[in-house]
Amino acid sequence: MQIMKFGGTSVNDAKAIAQVAAIVADQAAHSDGLVVVTSAMRGITDLLIDSARAAAAGDRQKYRDARLTIIARHRDAAEALVQDLDDLSHLQEQTDERVREFERLCMAVAILGELTDRGLAVISGLGERLLAPILAAAIRARGLAVEAVDAGELIVTDENYISAAPDMALSRQMTRDRLLPLLERGALPVVTGFVAATRDGVPTVLGRGGSDYSAAILAAALGADEIQIWTDVDGVLTADPRIVPEARPLPELTYSEAAELAYFGAKVLHPKTMLPAIDLGIPISVRNTFNPRFPGTMVVSQTSNGGQVKALTVIHRLALVTIAGRGMMGVPGIAARTFAAVAQQGANVLMISQASSEQSICFVVPETDAASVSRGLEHAFEEEIRRRLIDRVTVEHDIVIVAIVGEGMRGTPGIATRIFGALGERGINVIAIAQGSSEANISLVLAEADADTAVRYIHSAFALGQTATARPA
Ligand code: ADP
Ligand code: ASP
Ligand code: MG
Repeated sequence: MQIMKFGGTSVNDAKAIAQVAAIVADQAAHSDGLVVVTSAMRGITDLLIDSARAAAAGDRQKYRDARLTIIARHRDAAEALVQDLDDLSHLQEQTDERVREFERLCMAVAILGELTDRGLAVISGLGERLLAPILAAAIRARGLAVEAVDAGELIVTDENYISAAPDMALSRQMTRDRLLPLLERGALPVVTGFVAATRDGVPTVLGRGGSDYSAAILAAALGADEIQIWTDVDGVLTADPRIVPEARPLPELTYSEAAELAYFGAKVLHPKTMLPAIDLGIPISVRNTFNPRFPGTMVVSQTSNGGQVKALTVIHRLALVTIAGRGMMGVPGIAARTFAAVAQQGANVLMISQASSEQSICFVVPETDAASVSRGLEHAFEEEIRRRLIDRVTVEHDIVIVAIVGEGMRGTPGIATRIFGALGERGINVIAIAQGSSEANISLVLAEADADTAVRYIHSAFALGQTATARPA
């Protein structure tokens, strides 16, 4: 059994959806069971979220305009894809009903003047709920038995509405109860990605880009043989193609390499996608909807292709927080107190680096958390700051992390030297460096202004544009 997930660009309009239907029909001919997972049309989730936020701020025009765009895009797609007039009018009615729901929700948000996470989750999941019936109809038009399924009936999560965590045992049960009978009678489920629901049926979403994760959750629940992530590039590339035009698709990656890349900003896979796959060893293949014959990238537990450094990625909009002072040397518990204070602010620490002299600890957090983290630390170390044991807590803004990923780096000396050499030649200053515990990653902290140049330069220093070759088809 295969789980095939299609991203926003793959279902962007009638032409793309027709292409998806062709890919699905082609695979259905040789598969013992398929489940399709779909994202919303490209840009729709952003539009829904922006409209809801604007409504909360008192702007009612935004959602009224968005409503027209949403209706037009979905109605146009349906009209081009579905010939049967009864089916079409039923589909258009479903679209209209969803859009009315969107309008009612935004109106309520505008009246309350407040957008709760619970409200945001319902609104941001409407894009997938709008699209699934249309994609289902397009596949049905190719003669397959298809049923659109709302993942709110399959994936059960906690109440962290906008970035919800699944209860895997319960989700497995619900998914099997709902989908197995369908599959047994030869029907193909087309499931909404991204969305889920709490035990009480309250809609939640899995976090931005979460449709990949939906596919992996369903794959684990059903014990699928493969997760296919169909997107708009030829697989996982050696770098973001928008920054490095000569980036190449990687034939193979390990789960931990893919997880490092995703965690450090490579948008092609949601960072949590690997979790359900690792447990059962389900391979993830990343494929291009618009170049379906290309083999793409296989993400598996072990790879045969060597190569020390495989790929590079960048996370933007970060800040570097440093806490320093002579009073930190040899005093036990400073690090623990530092990170307890950071955790209290709910901030996510992306990287930690401690000077060997132990006179300072620096770490990287999202820019949006920097102010509260710095205040929290000043509060926690008030006494030490007063006694001048700690000089100050400083925050450096406009920071990025460049992560260099590849399991082959483990135990290979000289990689860091080559990286520094490459950057030094260009006069790029490395603010801090850390090696991930998995050793599949070296992370560099750089100034935002240096990020793109550094990525291009490291990419060429390791000849990544040349080393990655396509896996034979
Ligand atoms: P989808 O809508 O199919 O989920 P996304 O936009 O979420 O697609 O992810 C695919 C995009 O990720 C690509 O178009 C590419 O611009 C970007 N990207 C960033 N880093 C990488 C990388 N290392 N490999 C492939 N794509 C990447
Ligand atoms: N549509 C959702 C988003 O834009 C989920 C996804 O595309 O994976 O975040
Ligand atoms: Mg995506």
